[in-house]
Amino acid sequence: MTAQTSALPDPETLALEGGHSIGGKWTAVSDREATFRAMAPARQHLLPTVFAEANDVDVERAGRTAADAARPFAATTRDQRAAFLDRIAEELEARGPGLTACAHAETALPVARLEGERGRTTGQLRFFAARLRDGLDFSPVHVPGDAARAPLPRPDLRVAYRPLGPVAVFGASNFPLAFSVAGGDTASALAAGCPVIVKAHPAHPGTSALTADAVMAAVRACGLPPGVFSLLQGRGFSGGQALVTHPAVQAVGFTGSLRGGRALFDLAMSRPQPIPFYGELGSCNPVILLPGALSARTEDLARQWAASLTQGVGQFCTNPGLVLAVAGPDLEQFLQHACTALSAVPPAPMLTGWIARAYQDAVTELGALPGVSTVLPPARMAPAEGTPAIFRVSSDVWRQTHRLHAETFGPAAIVITCTDLADLTAVMDGLEGQLTVSLQLDPDAAQDRAAATALLPLCSEKAGRVLFNGMPTGVEVSPAMVHGGPYPASTAAASTSVGGLAIRRFLRPVSYQDCPAFLTPPGQI
Ligand code: NAP
Repeated sequence: MTAQTSALPDPETLALEGGHSIGGKWTAVSDREATFRAMAPARQHLLPTVFAEANDVDVERAGRTAADAARPFAATTRDQRAAFLDRIAEELEARGPGLTACAHAETALPVARLEGERGRTTGQLRFFAARLRDGLDFSPVHVPGDAARAPLPRPDLRVAYRPLGPVAVFGASNFPLAFSVAGGDTASALAAGCPVIVKAHPAHPGTSALTADAVMAAVRACGLPPGVFSLLQGRGFSGGQALVTHPAVQAVGFTGSLRGGRALFDLAMSRPQPIPFYGELGSCNPVILLPGALSARTEDLARQWAASLTQGVGQFCTNPGLVLAVAGPDLEQFLQHACTALSAVPPAPMLTGWIARAYQDAVTELGALPGVSTVLPPARMAPAEGTPAIFRVSSDVWRQTHRLHAETFGPAAIVITCTDLADLTAVMDGLEGQLTVSLQLDPDAAQDRAAATALLPLCSEKAGRVLFNGMPTGVEVSPAMVHGGPYPASTAAASTSVGGLAIRRFLRPVSYQDCPAFLTPPGQI
């Protein structure tokens, strides 16, 4: 145990439930069912708790109990749901050291990062509670009728929102708290009044069980129907696929890879009743180095970019894995400084052995592609580790090589050297949808001002968030945040998974026409 973990409990002695949480109760892990154990990536050994693998019977029970809870939960007030979210935050805080110890063992993410992520998770729950209390996301629109309007009278119309019903949530491996069991999708679905069934990520089942325990305690404390929340464990695809196709499930919130998200999206669309699928997927997050900024801040930019690229061993959906710049001496200087900074970053364990293998294969593949040159080769990596790597290509090679357009999950980057700003703009035009685009510009340089003005419409066409003189890692929870973007960054380009607007994903507007005064439309949440 390192100094930073000495105040935490030993994760191997934590009493963790290995079953599923269904309708307020933990299921037993019997000898007959399929099971799995979590792997500690830092030490490459199996952790002791045995977890159950969700099967069709478990999914059916979770679906049924969520369906039973849907109407009573939809009938709760905004204040009741706000109190529920606040209580989940308190229950998570009460389990803080155990959560950190468990997540640290299961993910190898540093303790400080995990404690920050817990703060972000509880802050996000309280943020949605505050949105519920102020009601801004739910304000019903009322257009009074006008009997005197000619040639036809205008009806009295009120639009109000009602919850969609049970939501299936899939979390990603790289945010065991903030994009997982009690993360943004769960918080916003519960805020909307939708029961949630989480399919836990198999990379952090113990963290998921502890988090589920906190949510279950909050359900009990707030006197809500037990089916408001369920958690299904599992390492295979079948449990998640059964969940997406369960008739009770009315929407999906997914955070993860393009491949997994696309497979489940297709499944959701092929159901007899297709349902909304909010998939937040990967992204290359281009950083555009405009000439004035590159010249004025060469070394600073290189350091900032290297720090952002290697944060969390590059395992962020907002990792800045693509750089666009015009060829020239300033770019060469930038790359030299970046190599210096990146060479000082030691190899570190990735979230899972599978992710490390995929990363190591990807950097080998990238380095061998025709027309790709290696600027910084990856240092020697142990089987579960990742180290930074930089590759460079001309804009022509990038255009012709589809593999270069895809995210590499880890601390690797591709630098596209463009011949001039028109060429850079053409590269931007060829980009697929992104979570972010970052523009590095010198506001005092006329050339950068003109280039930024010309590029901004293209940036907003391609991405959910456009940053100026910043790096994309770090997603503020704010009413004005958009974390999403055009496909393949997300399967639902018109929404965001972070920020106040996230609640809207799980609400359906209903219009009430000429509703008599003695009736209260049920959608008025
Ligand atoms: P992942 O492998 O796609 O896993 C996510 C979840 O989906 C897991 O529970 C996984 O379950 C399930 N799953 C995947 N494929 C499936 C299939 N075909 N059928 C049924 N279930 C399936 O993602 P990851 O490796 O954890 O996360 C890394 C990726 O997430 C990166 O691409 C990263 O950029 C992205 N990410 C995006 C955001 C965002 O907000 N946009 C945030 C964080 C991460 P099993 O493993 O049990 O199969």
